[in-house]
Amino acid sequence: MIIDEKLGNDYIIGCECDDFFIVKRLSPSVECPHCGKTELPSAMLTQWTLGHDVAVRVREVSGGAVS
Ligand SMILES: [Zn+2]
Repeated sequence: MIIDEKLGNDYIIGCECDDFFIVKRLSPSVECPHCGKTELPSAMLTQWTLGHDVAVRVREVSGGAVS
């Protein structure tokens, strides 16, 4: 299970069963409504950040250097 996209506070989750669903909040575990598989959001967040959030991290580094 992976975070496919982040829309504001919502996360679009893609499951191995080819189902996609939206979660409003990443609770301690996310459960696929289609196949019932559960996943830890922290692992998905880490993976998503590595792949999609480079620009945000660069900005944070720059901001830290300024202040
Ligand atoms: Zn599923």
